[in-house]
Amino acid sequence: MKIKRLAHVGIAVKSIDEVAKVYTDLLPLELTSTEPVGELRTGFIPIGETNVELVMSTEPDGTMAKFIDKKGEGVHHLAFEVDDIDAAVEELKAKGVPLTAEKPWKGAHGARVMFLHPKATHGVLIELCQYPEEH
Ligand code: ZN
Repeated sequence: MKIKRLAHVGIAVKSIDEVAKVYTDLLPLELTSTEPVGELRTGFIPIGETNVELVMSTEPDGTMAKFIDKKGEGVHHLAFEVDDIDAAVEELKAKGVPLTAEKPWKGAHGARVMFLHPKATHGVLIELCQYPEEH
């Protein structure tokens, strides 16, 4: 498995519009895109080679809403870009690492994503993502 960069830090938020102000009004950054992903909405704030990804639930009892109910808003996951997510998933399965799904699924920006279960990573939710070639 080759990890190319920290693609983004995922932040659990109640409202992308509200939280984006921290980055755009207090800091000189820009919210460049927002995108629905299943029951979530994501907003990307580029910082050099990486991004802050604001993630909010669009359903009151969705998984992100439940996370915020329990732990409050804040850092939710780290996303590492890999060159081949299918190979990465096979490699982790062979090592017995628990994953949150059987197969990679579609995330924001056409990426294919998978999460390592936080019980295997001392509490940090780690996302692996592979972007389409043209990205
Ligand atoms: Zn993410």
